Amino acid sequence: MTIADERIPAVARHAGHPLVVVGAGPAGLAAAAQAHARGIPTVVLESGPSAGSAVLEWGHVRLFSPWSELIDPVAEKLLTESGWTSPDPASYPTGRDWVERYLAPLAAQLVQQPEVEVNYAHRVVGVARAGRDRLVAIGRDEVPFTVHVATPDGRRTITACAVIDASGTWGTPNPLGGDGYLADGEAENADRIRYGIPDLTDPAVAARYAGKHVALAGRGASAQNVLVAMTSLASTQPGTRVTWLVRRGDTDKAFGGGDNDRLVARGALGKSAQHAVEDGPVTTVTGFRTSMVTSREGRLTLTSIDGQQVTDVDEVVVVTGFRPDHSWLSEVHLDLDGELSAPTGLAPEIHPAYHSCGSVSPHGANLLRQPEGDLYLVGMKSYGRAPSFLTLTGYEQTRSVVAEIAGDYESADRVELVLPDSGVCGGSGLFEDAPAAGGCCGPSVTAAPELLTVGAPVAAAVGAALPLVEDERPTVQTGCCG
Ligand SMILES: Cc1cc2nc3c(=O)[nH]c(=O)nc-3n(C[C@H](O)[C@H](O)[C@H](O)COP(=O)(O)OP(=O)(O)OC[C@H]3O[C@@H](n4cnc5c(N)ncnc54)[C@H](O)[C@@H]3O)c2cc1C
Repeated sequence: MTIADERIPAVARHAGHPLVVVGAGPAGLAAAAQAHARGIPTVVLESGPSAGSAVLEWGHVRLFSPWSELIDPVAEKLLTESGWTSPDPASYPTGRDWVERYLAPLAAQLVQQPEVEVNYAHRVVGVARAGRDRLVAIGRDEVPFTVHVATPDGRRTITACAVIDASGTWGTPNPLGGDGYLADGEAENADRIRYGIPDLTDPAVAARYAGKHVALAGRGASAQNVLVAMTSLASTQPGTRVTWLVRRGDTDKAFGGGDNDRLVARGALGKSAQHAVEDGPVTTVTGFRTSMVTSREGRLTLTSIDGQQVTDVDEVVVVTGFRPDHSWLSEVHLDLDGELSAPTGLAPEIHPAYHSCGSVSPHGANLLRQPEGDLYLVGMKSYGRAPSFLTLTGYEQTRSVVAEIAGDYESADRVELVLPDSGVCGGSGLFEDAPAAGGCCGPSVTAAPELLTVGAPVAAAVGAALPLVEDERPTVQTGCCG
């Protein structure tokens, strides 16, 4: 790393310049709350129109985590000072509830604070060291960052002592194409293809799928949500049917650990999805890697690389996961894992072949540091293409990273969080060819893990979702947990 040896923290080296936080989602707002608590002037830049813009896009989905696992402790303190009352910690919000009851009030409370700015419709389009492009190797830490921002009024450049990138991955979903690129014809037929979980409780959205043949691509929890919702739609709208496209050769363990899952809502979702597949109007096609989409007389045909075809498709729903956008970080020095695009130090800890079960250890600045000092990727984006990110992990990341920026190295190095263990491994998160269960360090399906479960166990909430692997790739690493 290139943090100066004398360990002068970013806030002192570049005094007078704020910390810039990219993204006003759960991780970005937690970072701002942490920075405020340490007296660091902070500018939050959010591309969307409001706090939690990305979460609102899946606002109809119920989370599998209860409120007790969705609120940052430092943010809670700030909110409580304003008279805010916490939702029932044992209940499960939807994405919209999360925004309305927590993220929006938190953002409103932050802007009341001196030296905190939260700017909406501000998209970060570049981060660099002042006057230095990527090729200038010397003296980078001696100058602050310049953060280039597209605003409704044009372009703005902000000088920053440090940058926390909490911009998530929601804006860059994986395509339908089995090789990670758009399939032939995917763009041309975009009006019939939806990325993400459609809100079938909205009559206008339900009408789009009612009585239709829907091809669903993806195998993770989002796919499970769609399977359950489409089956429910089919019960009132005859003719609705789903062809479920799975890249793996089987659907073994696609539904997770069921009753063994200590994330109760996640287990319930898996069981409901399994019922939907076994008893509902669902045809499963395995080994399907879409390479082409063609349209004829108003209906689509999807073709797999091996020649399999699914015909007479009316609509396609793609839930094949997300990927981070590093395009606007091209002028800073990053060290990212070649497979996951996550910080190299973190990658072995989160590789889905071993950590599909959510057995990721809490971590902080020590694993997130980049060669570019004072720049950190946190939250969902820090996981790159790996799924299983938990909000609580993001809160611990931001606590540690802000401590390091402030120069509180002892706190930055400490791990304060004990994460819940899911109780199952080898669930829907497994990549192809990954170890059957447990990976090299996780518990097996039948094992009884001893880790503390955070939050109250609550009755299963069907319809809960998690962003576990939507995607399968032929890849196994060795040496996790090392
Ligand atoms: C359907 C679904 C269900 C989930 N359920 C759970 C759950 O039950 N429990 C759990 O712990 N986790 C869950 N997660 C995972 C994770 O906790 C959430 O995705 C969470 O929203 C991630 O927070 P984040 O702040 O890292 O990213 P986001 O919430 O994606 O926030 C990033 C913000 O950055 C903004 N942004 C993006 N690019 C730019 C830019 N260039 N400039 C400025 N702003 C930018 C975006 O508009 C967005 O508002 C779920 C995820 C999904 C998709």
